[in-house]
Amino acid sequence: MMNIYNPSNEQLLKSIEEDSSSTINEKLNQLRNGQIQWAQKSVTERLDCILKFGDLIQQNIDELAQILTSETGKPIQQSYNEIKGAHNRIDHLKYNAEKWLADDTIEGLEGTFEKIMYEPLGVVANISAWNFPYNVGYNVFLYALVAGNAVAYKPSEYASLTGLAIAANLYKAGVPEDVFQCIIGEGAVGQTLLEADFDGYFFTGSYPTGLHILKEVAPKVVPVQLELGGKDPLYIMEDVQDVKVAAINAAEGAFYNNGQSCCAVERIYVHEKIFDAFVDFFLEEVEGYAIGDPDAEETFIGPLTRKGQLNLLRNQVDDAISKGAKLLLGGAELAGKGYFFAPTILTNVNHEMLVMKEESFGPIIGIQKVENDNEAIKLMKDTEYGLTAAVFSTDQLRAEKVLKEMNTGTVYWNCCDRVSPNVPWSGRNKSGVGATLSSQGIRAFTQPKAYHWREV
Ligand code: NDP
Repeated sequence: MMNIYNPSNEQLLKSIEEDSSSTINEKLNQLRNGQIQWAQKSVTERLDCILKFGDLIQQNIDELAQILTSETGKPIQQSYNEIKGAHNRIDHLKYNAEKWLADDTIEGLEGTFEKIMYEPLGVVANISAWNFPYNVGYNVFLYALVAGNAVAYKPSEYASLTGLAIAANLYKAGVPEDVFQCIIGEGAVGQTLLEADFDGYFFTGSYPTGLHILKEVAPKVVPVQLELGGKDPLYIMEDVQDVKVAAINAAEGAFYNNGQSCCAVERIYVHEKIFDAFVDFFLEEVEGYAIGDPDAEETFIGPLTRKGQLNLLRNQVDDAISKGAKLLLGGAELAGKGYFFAPTILTNVNHEMLVMKEESFGPIIGIQKVENDNEAIKLMKDTEYGLTAAVFSTDQLRAEKVLKEMNTGTVYWNCCDRVSPNVPWSGRNKSGVGATLSSQGIRAFTQPKAYHWREV
């Protein structure tokens, strides 16, 4: 049995049955059979189930938001935002899936014709993260299902109740049980999935686990996609229209979901001409955040989801201070029950410090002064990750010049920490390989078959 705890009060929420290698193999066999019939349905029929699923999620949003908040500690308003926001993936599929899954016919020369058919991969494993289980889950399993695959979905152990609720709603919406199965368990259960014979592995999580998966499944020679972490930089130029607005937006990018977003702003560079004013507004904004009970409507900062992260954050703070950083706010856990870490702001930081180099994935930010764009570019590029990079400025050309230099899957001008289904979501280097969302994100769950024919 696996125990699920509430991170805001450390109380046991529920004990649930874990999968074993025998139940996983049983589920895999069911999925193999189910996938054959599922793939024979039209895209419209499959899409209809997903649209019904979307309606059910909206109807049950109160209960689902409660579940999400109880097991992850996400403030309740942010749970509602996530569930509502993720619906844009369903709309995206509604308007685009048929177009992208249709055959491409190419009229050839001299009576020879060619066609590309987009066939499903088969039965795919989706090993997922807990920080945005609706967003990152939908990016994979909804797109995979619409493309005709069966899915073994392993939610993170910290989002298992949400995973089970998602499965129940998919079944109610008409997705057969032998087409979607939830696999419950910790990392060891994920490991069993790697040993089983899936036709593709789609992972969202940390770089170390992603690398392990890549190595483990390499001999199978099946598609592997990895959506991993980041150390995403934001550069504030001195020409921003309003320094206060820039500071408010930057703070939200850094602290939304307690900083536990793959594309959270993880380090900020500010032009020296506005540095002091920016830091003052930033501090004022973060000091105003309501911290505490995630069930309370006004709460903006709840507990961290995982207890272990408290040590990592404390270590980053200690390391920075020992190397000369100035602690403006926070810096430690909050007393009492629950995995609360005070929102933390550090200045006088540099790239010798862990906080500017290693993913924090929590409510902590380093703000560094820069002299000019060249220095900002150099620092922004000084990372092994490549998820997103952002610039706030009124000068589009100048911002684009900086963003062009970034080796990241996404760049933002005057916005940050956002994902849209219209464009691909992808990381480079230690941030991953492959793309979800957009046309590429649906084709990711297919394999092309080239068909040549000649009329005789
Ligand atoms: P982890 O890598 O710890 O876990 C991710 C998933 O992998 C979980 O379901 C976990 O199971 C499972 N797992 C752990 N060990 C193994 C194993 N040996 N074999 C197979 N599966 C295994 O990441 P987190 O859940 O902590 O997620 C946070 C990370 O995810 C951050 O780095 C964040 O940046 C990244 N992320 C990236 C996104 C992107 O789109 N690029 C989006 C969201 C998050 P269990 O939890 O049960 O141990």
